[in-house]
Amino acid sequence: MIQIHDLSKSFQELEVLKNINLQVYAGEVVSILGPSGSGKSTLLRCLNGLEEMTSGRIELAGHVIDSGQSKKEQAKAIRQIRLQTGMVFQQFNLYPHKTVLENVTEALLVVRKWPKAKAVEKAETLLDRVGLLQKKDVYPSRLSGGQQQRVAIARALAAEPAVMLFDEPTSALDPELVGEVLAVIKELANEGMTMVIVTHEMEFAEEVSDRVVFMADGIIVEQDSPKEFFNNPKTERAQKFLKKFG
Ligand code: ATP
Ligand code: MG
Repeated sequence: MIQIHDLSKSFQELEVLKNINLQVYAGEVVSILGPSGSGKSTLLRCLNGLEEMTSGRIELAGHVIDSGQSKKEQAKAIRQIRLQTGMVFQQFNLYPHKTVLENVTEALLVVRKWPKAKAVEKAETLLDRVGLLQKKDVYPSRLSGGQQQRVAIARALAAEPAVMLFDEPTSALDPELVGEVLAVIKELANEGMTMVIVTHEMEFAEEVSDRVVFMADGIIVEQDSPKEFFNNPKTERAQKFLKKFG
């Protein structure tokens, strides 16, 4: 579903991603772990074109972004890839002046040009799925952080993406609200959604992932099944990282 080939990204002279190669298969859940500044967010942002790669190639759901393409070709590929990816960030980024329902229907109405009734029906189904149908007419400021994040997930799912990308979806939440968001993500995993999840929730990563990718200093240091990675990390770097989480 996703193939990353020799992806590099620099900000001026700072090399943040160094020749990343990674495959994510359809239906797979891959967690990306690693210390702060290792390039996890940059990698996700390159995946859907929020960040322009310096060199390399990304294929996602059959669409290719390649550093050798013309700007025009690249922009077209990024548009296609965005339609196939739902992204959820640490900050929920909901539209404050739209209701919960309007937040979820927005992309369907504006990007997909769906008729209103169809968009509303779809949005209501998704809000029901994340347990928030009863909140559909309120504004985001009236919701808890966990509820806002669940709306953000419903919104990302609305366009029926082939892949969901999560960047630390629970790290801005009060501890007691983390569980409800992780439960929604776990349910998606069980339904077979292809997902890449950057997280600092080790237990969750162990439970939900098919594979764990450990990054440090812009490279993939090791990747393994969660069982292997958490019980028997191969590199000193990963051992040190895991010690911090007890
Ligand atoms: P964290 O766990 O703290 O979120 P991360 O692994 O997601 O860290 P990134 O946000 O990808 O790390 O950042 C990797 C490196 O790239 C850092 O050194 C960061 O300062 C740098 N960086 C990120 N975005 C930019 C930018 N727009 N301009 C310049 N440098 C940047
Ligand atoms: Mg980050």
